Amino acid sequence: MTTHEYDVVVVGAGTAGCYAAAALARAGLDVVVVERKDEAEAGHIACGDALKGADAFPEAIPKSKIQDAFTNTGVDHGRFELPQHDTVLNIPIPGELAVIDRLEYGRRIIDGASEAGADFHYDTVVQDVRQEGDRVTGVRATRKGDPVTYEAQVTMDAAGALSILQDKTEFDDTTFDTNVSYSQFCSAYREIVEVPDPVEWDDALVFKPTERAAGYLWYFPRTETTINAGLGFQMTEEPMKLVQDLRRDLEQRPEFAGAEVQDKLGAALPTRRPYDSAVAPGFVAVGDAAGHVNPTTGGGIAGAAYAGTYAAEAIIDAIDDPTEAALWEYNERVMDHFGGRYAGLDVYNVLSTAVDVDDLMGLLAALPGEKLAEALYSGSTSMGLALKVKSAVKSFGYWSTILDFYRTKQLAEELMDQYDAYPDHPSALDSWQADRDAVMERVYETTGAEPKY
Ligand SMILES: Cc1cc2nc3c(=O)[nH]c(=O)nc-3n(C[C@H](O)[C@H](O)[C@H](O)COP(=O)(O)OP(=O)(O)OC[C@H]3O[C@@H](n4cnc5c(N)ncnc54)[C@H](O)[C@@H]3O)c2cc1C
Repeated sequence: MTTHEYDVVVVGAGTAGCYAAAALARAGLDVVVVERKDEAEAGHIACGDALKGADAFPEAIPKSKIQDAFTNTGVDHGRFELPQHDTVLNIPIPGELAVIDRLEYGRRIIDGASEAGADFHYDTVVQDVRQEGDRVTGVRATRKGDPVTYEAQVTMDAAGALSILQDKTEFDDTTFDTNVSYSQFCSAYREIVEVPDPVEWDDALVFKPTERAAGYLWYFPRTETTINAGLGFQMTEEPMKLVQDLRRDLEQRPEFAGAEVQDKLGAALPTRRPYDSAVAPGFVAVGDAAGHVNPTTGGGIAGAAYAGTYAAEAIIDAIDDPTEAALWEYNERVMDHFGGRYAGLDVYNVLSTAVDVDDLMGLLAALPGEKLAEALYSGSTSMGLALKVKSAVKSFGYWSTILDFYRTKQLAEELMDQYDAYPDHPSALDSWQADRDAVMERVYETTGAEPKY
């Protein structure tokens, strides 16, 4: 049996793990990233490859290191195809957005963390945690059949959506969020497809509801001829046949005639609010392993990079005695930056489980695209009188859905206010959760949805 000693053991060489490891190593801590894949396969992750907020990524890995993996930086709008309503909506997307070569990006962030001083141990599958009382003191793993142990002051779970670390940890006397179930996840699959001729929509992210079952399809152009084509469905819904359903749609689109599939991958992703607390004594969860994904878009790369960085900064301060209270600032920074917003957006996911999908699509098709974009991105609710009348006439038949939306939006805003009051100490978490849960009760009552948590 081999035993390694480090200040921090990070499980998972994805975005969260690499950004964390880079920040920890830069601060002079001894850090190892333990990854189950081999060196060639590490960084190969199932993803739509759309990176939002690419201009404002954390600096633990310099942007110059990853920039060459941004293969399409010309995307400036979403193209929503609603074939049942014979409508295509073009909605501008503000801010910098890139569609990336995901494997190249994955390799570059590993390089970045490695250059900062982190060690990488590949072919190493973590199977258990070490725990003394409440405190996690490392992990047990297997490398090519041989047992290997890692002892560390802090263990970081950056092992993605289906991490086994949390199943193996006893969280009874901690604040760590264990209110997690499969129904709060989405199952998704994507192919990288090479088309013979440039697509017309190389400046757009294309979205489309699926024909069967409640799901959605996407076509994201990595370049004008390399397309990330994928689809997903919420695990509360009837399961889709992901591979066949994608194939059916590809076959119906003329631009994919003669296309060749270069790569295929599927995975789960959390479409839920962020964990109420992602810390326990000697333990921190980051990225998908802590629900740090925008639950309406499935975008999780940026959240993972920031969560990894914030967790690292909290660990640096707390390394001598990593209690929950000492690590708490990490929870606060996540909630302040994006956690509260993601929890607010999750309210619309709750609503979508209770309203008819056709009604939703009909409503979307009835609204003027440019006003929808304004309302989405600026929070503006103002509309000129002529447009108001036009929208009201077109949206006739969807008024009860509009009313549901209006009430849900108010509750989502109330919920975000609640997250603004996220506690500054673990001892206040219980009473904050009680207040937050009271708002969620009203969300379930108003929408008629089954409780998600
Ligand atoms: C199909 C699909 C499409 C998506 N599209 C987008 C998109 O367009 N834009 C976007 O921003 N986000 C997207 N996401 C989400 C995004 O991919 C994730 O949020 C992001 O990759 C999370 O990073 P992470 O570091 O937390 O986890 P991951 O990137 O999943 O990394 C986890 C790592 O841990 C390793 N690991 C797991 N278990 C163990 C173990 N027991 N021992 C050792 N190593 C282990 C894994 O091999 C992996 O390398 C998509 C997700 C899916 C599934």
